[in-house]
Amino acid sequence: MSANTTAAVQTTCPECEGAIVPQRSPLNGEILQCDQCGVELEVTCTDPLCVELAPEVEEDWGE
Ligand SMILES: [Zn+2]
Repeated sequence: MSANTTAAVQTTCPECEGAIVPQRSPLNGEILQCDQCGVELEVTCTDPLCVELAPEVEEDWGE
């Protein structure tokens, strides 16, 4: 048996194919950010982890 039973959940960025390795267990619908290209990714399922590009929010909230 493998001793590595604590393998991090991870998936691949659909934008740049970089590895997405969440710091903790992601939740469905959570937004993660790609470390490689900075794109925002929405978690669409968690087991196995899969993500989609999050819709870009360009709204100006009056900053
Ligand atoms: Zn990326």
